[in-house]
Amino acid sequence: MRLVLLGAPGAGKGTVAGPLSKFLGVPAISTGEIFRQNISEKTPLGQSAKQYIDKGELVPDDIVLLLIESRLAQPDCKTGFILDGFPRTIVQAKALNEMLMKRNEEITAVINVELDEETIISRLAGRRVCEKCGRTYNLHSIMPCVPDTCDLCEGRVSQREDDKVETVKKRLDTYYKKTQSLVKFYNDAGLLIRVQNKKETEESVNEIVNTVSRTLKGRK
Ligand code: AMP
Repeated sequence: MRLVLLGAPGAGKGTVAGPLSKFLGVPAISTGEIFRQNISEKTPLGQSAKQYIDKGELVPDDIVLLLIESRLAQPDCKTGFILDGFPRTIVQAKALNEMLMKRNEEITAVINVELDEETIISRLAGRRVCEKCGRTYNLHSIMPCVPDTCDLCEGRVSQREDDKVETVKKRLDTYYKKTQSLVKFYNDAGLLIRVQNKKETEESVNEIVNTVSRTLKGRK
């Protein structure tokens, strides 16, 4: 099962990716998360990505493609994967198709997580993320049981630098200019599944996972 999660920043891709990964037994791969990890470890990759991420811009395609190619070559991706935040440009989407073609594989489906802009902005302002495992929480809905502490790994839960209001506006603008066209790209390819992520409660996330699993029944 090889899935792509599409959607604006803050639409809930990351929240859906975790439970979906557990349900399907394939790894969820978040390019944003890999960059944040590299930034916190001050690796060369992290240092070159940081200048773009801090401005709400996309990291250049060549950097992202090298990263994803080496990640997909890991043994845990043999039976499938869920891509969260990749591809984000038509160049990346075409490169992904080529990468998979070389492995005699193809994308099973693309899930477009949809949410209106007003809710996205308020949700991003309230979003908190575990610095250690990347699990997302929200001040308005899903909160950790112990304040600022991750339920899963006890890591510190904090606000992402790029969730501050000015950067959020820029990230949404970047999404409309560079990423939104992928919805048509994958719809034309007959791969798109649309899901609404109105509530961002555990119940709503489970509902999305159920919808996706029902739709995917019979696909490999
Ligand atoms: P995310 O956690 O998916 O919201 O990603 C955080 C930031 O990482 C984005 O705003 C981009 O600057 C960068 N990023 C993540 N994935 C990609 C990608 N596929 N292409 C370019 N930049 C990316």
